[in-house]
Amino acid sequence: MDGRVRQHLVIDGDDTLWENNIYFEDAAEAFIDFLDHSSLTRDQVRATLDEIERLNLGVNGYGSAAFGRNLQATYERLAERQIRTEDLEHLLELARRVVSQPMELRPAVEETLQQLSPRHDLTLFTKGEQDEQTLKVERSGLAGYFNRVVVTPEKDVEAYRELVIKHGFDPDATWMVGNSPKSDINPPLAAGLGAVYIPHPRTWSLEVVEVIESERLLVLDGFAQLLDHF
Ligand SMILES: [Mg+2]
Repeated sequence: MDGRVRQHLVIDGDDTLWENNIYFEDAAEAFIDFLDHSSLTRDQVRATLDEIERLNLGVNGYGSAAFGRNLQATYERLAERQIRTEDLEHLLELARRVVSQPMELRPAVEETLQQLSPRHDLTLFTKGEQDEQTLKVERSGLAGYFNRVVVTPEKDVEAYRELVIKHGFDPDATWMVGNSPKSDINPPLAAGLGAVYIPHPRTWSLEVVEVIESERLLVLDGFAQLLDHF
């Protein structure tokens, strides 16, 4: 690729631009403490929560409200004591706390966007609930570097096809940048776009799948390395 040619860079938000999953992980740990199961290990409780999240994705979607409902469902399945209304309310509060965490940008994000922004067309493409993701974008202070912000309920092949058609992007000059193989890498490659994979060590387990092989896949150690390629 010729870095001097203006490209369409489509960039993920959660765990690419800012920390996100660590707050869900912390809430899951607090949930396991609260459940205080007599025989299941922490990993076994966590596996049950993962399974319930997987089953409910189509119904509950993504975000803190969905997470709260999944914590409740896991509690109802595993609790060894009578389930009280105030306990279920406490679980919703654990989930709500996830969105009130301070916004912490990933390393080198802002200075890298500063340099990319005049050279390329930038789209922030984030998956989740409209209001919750819009609030994160506002709190990040990064919106000004982007030509547009798009919140999508799902990042599948169809979502990428729609994105490039709607905005008239040339697929050969379009790259998705993100941390999730399931959402940011495999679907855009399947849709004929390029993909830039920047792994995050604490990516949500439901987002980790095998990355498909492609000539249009770049794997980088960190966000600043985008400047070596674009
Ligand atoms: Mg992400």
